[in-house]
Amino acid sequence: MPIIVLDPGHGGTDPGAIGNGLQEKNLTLDIGLKVQKVLEDNFVVDVRLTREADVYAGLSERADYANGLDAAYFVSLHHNAGGGTGFESFIYPGSAASETGRRQDVLHGEMMNFYSTYGLRDRGQKEANFSVLRETAMPAILLENLFIDSVNDTNLLKDPIFLTGLANAIAAGIAKALNLKS
Ligand SMILES: [Zn+2]
Repeated sequence: MPIIVLDPGHGGTDPGAIGNGLQEKNLTLDIGLKVQKVLEDNFVVDVRLTREADVYAGLSERADYANGLDAAYFVSLHHNAGGGTGFESFIYPGSAASETGRRQDVLHGEMMNFYSTYGLRDRGQKEANFSVLRETAMPAILLENLFIDSVNDTNLLKDPIFLTGLANAIAAGIAKALNLKS
C-alpha cells in the first residue's frame, strides 16, 4: 500500500502567517487531518502526517521523516500572506518535465476545479527552491491555499463547508495523481 506524507506547515512556537483571527499552523493541521481521513476512508493508502498536534517540527526533520518511510508522495500544506488572493502550488525547480510535474498538473487542476467554483484566482503552477521540496527523495509539492491576510480568502477559510470541500479536492487530486485504488 503506498504511503503518502502530508506536511502541515509550521506548528508549536512557529505559527506561520497570522491574520484575520487565523493562524496558519492551525489551519494546515486541520486540513491535513481532514485530507488524511478522506483518503484513508476511500482509498487503499497509508497516510502519515509530519505532525499530528500543535508542535514544532524542523524542515529537514519533515523531509527525513518522509524519506525514512520511502513515501510515494510528499504534500506540504501552507497558506500564503503578503498581499494577494488565490491559490498557487510549487515544485522543485527543473522538475516540471518529470513525474513531479505531471502530478502537479493533476493535483493543481483538481484543486482549481474546486477553487474556481468560489471565483478564486489561479496564481499558477510554480517552482521554488524550498527545503522540503529539495530534501525529499520522492515527488513533492507545496500548496499555498489562499491568503491569511486577505479578508475575502479568510472568510472562506473560516467556513467549515469550504474547508471540507478543499480537503475533498486535495484528496481527489492526490488519488488521481497516484491512481490510488478505491
Ligand atoms: Zn507557511
